[in-house]
Amino acid sequence: MAALVWGTRIKEEPIGSAAFDCPVCGERVIGDAFKVLKATHVYFIRGHFREIQRYARCRLCAVSSDLPTTAKPEVFKQLNIIFPTNGFISRTNPALIDKPKPENSNYPKSLEKTRHVLSLFHGILGEINSHKSSSKAAGNAEGIILLILMASLFLSMFLYDKFPNHTGLFLITLWTIALFLIIYFFRLQSTLMFKAAHQYLNIHIQRFMEFKHVQLRDLISQASTMKGEFKIVKRYLLWAEKRIDPNSYYTNIGY
Ligand SMILES: [Zn+2]
Repeated sequence: MAALVWGTRIKEEPIGSAAFDCPVCGERVIGDAFKVLKATHVYFIRGHFREIQRYARCRLCAVSSDLPTTAKPEVFKQLNIIFPTNGFISRTNPALIDKPKPENSNYPKSLEKTRHVLSLFHGILGEINSHKSSSKAAGNAEGIILLILMASLFLSMFLYDKFPNHTGLFLITLWTIALFLIIYFFRLQSTLMFKAAHQYLNIHIQRFMEFKHVQLRDLISQASTMKGEFKIVKRYLLWAEKRIDPNSYYTNIGY
């Protein structure tokens, strides 16, 4: 309730692209830059949006990092280009000119072959996680499941009262339905998350496949070897398999 009376609102706006050194994949890349704006509100009265952060999403690995203050993003819509030209560097981030290209940071040189893939998985995971809290079903999942269980329980009690001779059958039917509903909501939850993430990731994955000459199948089998929280990357890639549309490559301006 408190959030209704007093709270903050956050929005993001694209501000162009700039050269930057990505700390995750360790490459000098073009980053698509966004500013994050925040406003406080009391009841329905909202204050001015103030810029609180600038970040860039790496065009290679899709990980978002803080954009250096030296960067001066400009509109650059050739979405298939990952690496900046010297001219682009001097216009959008002149501080980089005298700096050596970064060493691989998150993943060591010994992983040279899979380094970029691992970085991309990192980016995919981050993007999916960033939609975990914002997707409606995800936020309500626990509540919905509790509701289903409660309804099943009450219905069971009601049916037990009405038809005491067939209790077993009714209970089994009821709890099977409840189980299916719960599975359905979990699936719906990840579908919503995947959909939101895919808006951004679609273009990254297409560009990545073109640059690295890999097929989605290769990425999926790589993702199958990942453990822990990275398991969702494989599930996402399998979900995305039918949805990655090469025709949308040059027209999808998500930025
Ligand atoms: Zn990167």
